[in-house]
Amino acid sequence: MRSSRLIEVEDIETLKLFEDVSEEARKEKLAVPPINKLLYWWTRKPISVARAIILLSTVPAPFRENGEVEKEKLKEMITEIRELIGLNSDVRAYKNDPKIGRFQKLLDFDPSGIFVMDPFAGQGNLMFSALEYGLRASVMDYNPVAYVLMKSILEYPRKYPHLAEDVEKYGKELIERTEKELGRFYKRGGRTALYYIWCWCIKCPYCGQRVPLTNQMWLDKNGKIGYWFRFKNGDFEVEIRQLSDKKGEKHTQKEGNAICEKSFGGCGNTISYEHMTRDIAERRDKELIAVVVRSRKGKAFELPSEEDRKNFEEAAKYLKENWDSFLEEDLIPTEDLKESELFRLTNYGLKKWYEV
Ligand SMILES: [Zn+2]
Repeated sequence: MRSSRLIEVEDIETLKLFEDVSEEARKEKLAVPPINKLLYWWTRKPISVARAIILLSTVPAPFRENGEVEKEKLKEMITEIRELIGLNSDVRAYKNDPKIGRFQKLLDFDPSGIFVMDPFAGQGNLMFSALEYGLRASVMDYNPVAYVLMKSILEYPRKYPHLAEDVEKYGKELIERTEKELGRFYKRGGRTALYYIWCWCIKCPYCGQRVPLTNQMWLDKNGKIGYWFRFKNGDFEVEIRQLSDKKGEKHTQKEGNAICEKSFGGCGNTISYEHMTRDIAERRDKELIAVVVRSRKGKAFELPSEEDRKNFEEAAKYLKENWDSFLEEDLIPTEDLKESELFRLTNYGLKKWYEV
């Protein structure tokens, strides 16, 4: 009898199965399986595909002595394989347990006798399924990020059974310590600022207007909320409000140049990249334009208050006072920015990483 596996059988049953697994995999890629929640690895293999490959390349195909396939038997086996992958389930396939007992019955020998190797394993999803089904597996990858990820998926959960609790515990501790040390810089009334939004500002060389630089106006594109500028006596005011799609796409900086935008009351002239970067490098003028705060719905956007500006000044003072001790503890990235790094920020007069 030929010693072939199911994956080698060219038959309408297997082709139909491949098609259904592909469709299931497409849906799985849209959802987020549990082992992928910490990080999105672009080339990860869906669990449904991994299971299908492991099952089909280990279970022997039902060939007769004369090399013909036993049609009825094949149909029966593919039906069982569909069940094992979880294709007939009400929930996404990967959410089902792997049903190891049924796999072993179909295989008819001990799966630990099968040794598989994935030399380009990436995150390790293919071999995750191999291990789930009791095969012996070996993995490798040249990429160090992939290597750490595969260890976190295939090795650490077995080696450190309390890892999840420990990560949660130290995560909480880190948040508590950070809040104790820095929380006061984010307090505004009884509420907490999540983050602050700043703009670089330049002076228009044609009309003298102070122009805040932004490449779009959205704060929340889905909710159609954004900021809007009103140029006034050479300076500007900010409004936070509902914007139309057209207004949301307005900008004062795009594709290298700045614009003294007419919609905000500017002269409409384009300001060159050279002028814009030199202005920022020399004057370092910037403005706090919005504060993102935690709300019942998630996030809300508010105009900066005096308290916010005071908090910023306090934070700057705190940093200055502790600069030397932070340096000593190696908490400040003092490395030089290279010309090619981070959107050529050296053109804006930023020379060190900590200035970013
Ligand atoms: Zn102007």
